[in-house]
Amino acid sequence: MIPVPYHLQEIAELTAVGEDSLTVQLVCPCGCGRFLLFENTYTEQERAQMRLFRQTADEILRSRYLYPAPEESVLPDALPIAGLHRFSVRCADCGNAALLYDNRLHGYDGAVIGREIPPAYQPPMKQRFAGRLPARQIRVCISGGIPADALADFTGAEAANLRLLSECFTEIRIQTRGENGRYRTVFSEETG
Ligand SMILES: [Zn+2]
Repeated sequence: MIPVPYHLQEIAELTAVGEDSLTVQLVCPCGCGRFLLFENTYTEQERAQMRLFRQTADEILRSRYLYPAPEESVLPDALPIAGLHRFSVRCADCGNAALLYDNRLHGYDGAVIGREIPPAYQPPMKQRFAGRLPARQIRVCISGGIPADALADFTGAEAANLRLLSECFTEIRIQTRGENGRYRTVFSEETG
């Protein structure tokens, strides 16, 4: 059985366990089970940079089919920020806020390998479902733990503690319950 990710333990109730997977339901310490969901977004400047990157990439791709071939163009570096995925929740009753997922910190790649985006960078956050049924029940499905000895081999036994091990999942899915009572996946990511 894989452990419940450390950062979720205060707001997670285990509802299903598989051989290499688990599902938790979010429940606030106040007892409320409905949350507002927030996800990271971009500043105007970041958006403009990402647009420029896409345009340049498109132009380079198109130019490959020209004859004679134009001078070799170099694709600009993609903005690391484009790979950031961060979700947080706020309890609909008491307002208690918690970090749900940040791929710089959680999942195998974030927790063990690390990412290019500086940990201090705080992206602007926007509310999901702000217009319709904003307070929802949320569950998180985690799968693909790694064996403790494999983690110790990679990071050194000192670093390979239970807390880190609990964040070494390789896939996460965030699901919210809609008006029809069904859970729908609103985000999924392979994390290692
Ligand atoms: Zn609460």
